[in-house]
Amino acid sequence: MIKINYPKNIEELTEEYYNRIITKKFNCPPKDSKNIIKKICDEKWLNKKDKNLENIFNILKEKDEEFKELFKNKTLKQIVLAKPEELKELLDEFGEIDSSTITDIFKYSGKFQNEVITEFFTKNFDFTTCYYCNKDLILNFNAPKKTSTFQLDHFYDKGKYPYLALSFYNLIPSCSTCNSSKVKGSKDCFKYDSRVGKFENETCKIPNHKDFDFDQKVKFRLFLTESCKDSNIKNKDNIEIKLKEHYSNEYDKYIKVFQLNERYQAHKDIVFEMIKNAELYPESRLKELQDLTGIPYQQIKQDIFSLIDDNADLSKEPFSKLKRDMAYELGLI
Ligand SMILES: [Zn+2]
Repeated sequence: MIKINYPKNIEELTEEYYNRIITKKFNCPPKDSKNIIKKICDEKWLNKKDKNLENIFNILKEKDEEFKELFKNKTLKQIVLAKPEELKELLDEFGEIDSSTITDIFKYSGKFQNEVITEFFTKNFDFTTCYYCNKDLILNFNAPKKTSTFQLDHFYDKGKYPYLALSFYNLIPSCSTCNSSKVKGSKDCFKYDSRVGKFENETCKIPNHKDFDFDQKVKFRLFLTESCKDSNIKNKDNIEIKLKEHYSNEYDKYIKVFQLNERYQAHKDIVFEMIKNAELYPESRLKELQDLTGIPYQQIKQDIFSLIDDNADLSKEPFSKLKRDMAYELGLI
């Protein structure tokens, strides 16, 4: 639920990722793998008039909005959705090229992930919290020889969309809980309906999509439970926190799949502490402190409530979205 902001040199990095996958998979120097790709992509069954298919291996580095378009392409759809025997028939047309090569190039295995993909992500990125839940830390440690704690979730499930199994933008750094079968696992957030040629729930976007706006559209809201008498909040059981989307329901499925409302109930103590702090330090008290210490009012407020800036990268701190949304709910900002 936090937008992924990659570093400025992301295009360079995805190019490096693409080259690394291709050379490892073809097990040959870059020059030779370029020739192999050229040969595969020149074969007559790839419709060369369609520029989307100039190089089907570009799917390794294309963004969601691009590879989603590719699903609509008849030839690629044919490959992606082909059953194994149909796939073999298609690939047999490659003649000299081993029919298993293309299938294999997109194939994901635990060993390949550990040795190539995770190693690449660990070396080039420093993630802090899980992009799905913003609760758990996914830090690297032992710098400079870094050890990672993140997992890479296949947003489009690798079982159902095998050709996206190694696509850079399909790999979302997440915590082990979000990636587990108890939470997202292999759930298909965007089930592709081949009869109508459309994705169900197409409006729900991947967290690295340029238009991913979960943070703007969905906010944590504070509610009082029936046990709360006269709005006097005495303990955390008097409150409930829920993610609510305003004016649309684009992210409903997302909230449901990641069980965010249920999982955040265990963290009501964070909100309860904020409420208590707000009671202890009303405006008048903050002004007194300003007069007493000479420290500007805003600075004191910032320090006491650990307020999070509107432009802050929320992925850099656990529970930052909860804390910022609650600060708005409590009128602290
Ligand atoms: Zn998570």
